[in-house]
Amino acid sequence: MFYSYHHIFILPFTVNLFTLEIMHEMSIVTVLIDQVIDIAQRNRLKDVQVVVLVAGQLRQVVPEMMQEAFKAVIPGTIVEGAVLRVEAEAALVRCRACQAEYQPDVDDFICRSCQKADVEILRGNDIILKTIEGNK
Ligand SMILES: [Zn+2]
Repeated sequence: MFYSYHHIFILPFTVNLFTLEIMHEMSIVTVLIDQVIDIAQRNRLKDVQVVVLVAGQLRQVVPEMMQEAFKAVIPGTIVEGAVLRVEAEAALVRCRACQAEYQPDVDDFICRSCQKADVEILRGNDIILKTIEGNK
């Protein structure tokens, strides 16, 4: 049987969930779902089919745990039945001493050029709600 859906794509949005300093997957997902429901209601969606999240490497989010948490919180909401996609974002930092930019390991921020460990994080430190997709 063939189903045809009329999707509305809402993008881009960038909501920094970590303004709330949340670390745990379940907490992340709880905040995420609140945001998704709010956005869906404001855009008069009848349902939500896909939620795309960008997870910075430095947040060390475990995608499988994120999926489990997502499945646990969506029943009974407008997001029930939706698919969660988690896209990883590599970290990028800039050395404050020599201005070199490089991709650190999660447990090793030492500058490849000058061996100091004083960096500004440019990328990979956020969890961002990128898109939601649903039916009007
Ligand atoms: Zn350096």
